[in-house]
Amino acid sequence: MLFTSSWDDGYTLDLTVAALLRKNGLAGTFYVCPAPQHDRSMLTEKQILTLSESFEIGAHTLTHSKLSSLTAAEAQQEIAGSKAWVERVTEKPCTMFCYPKGDFGIGAKTIVRQAGFRGARTTEAWRCSFTDPYALPVSLQVMPFPLRKSFWPPWKVLDPLGPLRANWMALQRNRVPLSARMSWLTMARAFFQRSLEQKFPFFHLYGHSHEIERFGLWHELAEFLEEIRRSGVSSVTNGALAAGRA
Ligand SMILES: [Zn+2]
Repeated sequence: MLFTSSWDDGYTLDLTVAALLRKNGLAGTFYVCPAPQHDRSMLTEKQILTLSESFEIGAHTLTHSKLSSLTAAEAQQEIAGSKAWVERVTEKPCTMFCYPKGDFGIGAKTIVRQAGFRGARTTEAWRCSFTDPYALPVSLQVMPFPLRKSFWPPWKVLDPLGPLRANWMALQRNRVPLSARMSWLTMARAFFQRSLEQKFPFFHLYGHSHEIERFGLWHELAEFLEEIRRSGVSSVTNGALAAGRA
């Protein structure tokens, strides 16, 4: 089994993720977008260039728009434009794309392929294998679990166990024991161990550094990455995985 990881949007806090990955000798793909998200500080072009010396940098559109809400010409501009932007900043080819909000609607995969990307990541979770490099899924997101920590829209206060509920079937399918469902870290460990035992093709961790900060998940992420290092699993970029070079 291979380990891969990806981190979305290009927040300045991605530097903290990069430091954790580096400490554990793990690969990461950072999907950066020049448009600020969630009022957070974003990586400067110089920081992206420095990051590209150790990690893969992927494109994530220019404005973080949902592609299905755009015309084909607008989507083409967002997709090809973000590739050109990343290549100018990093001074190297950009071969991976990430669909904002996981939305690839009708035709986006074709536009991504025609723009010259070799693969693209979705947000389809609990997956440890893929068939289409232009719909590369993820295994697990770094997120609050089992309790919801954000109550917007306000009715979500009525659904405090939303993350547990939403993932219940996948937890069952992957035989994550009830005793491991009390925290994100224990759940992640159980799913990772199961993936190793089953010899799944890959385990793909992904997340947003601004959420890791907002919800206080740094400690759990650090512990999990250490566990992955200790497992001795090989680690590859999203690009190497999608291209079948791994
Ligand atoms: Zn995003």
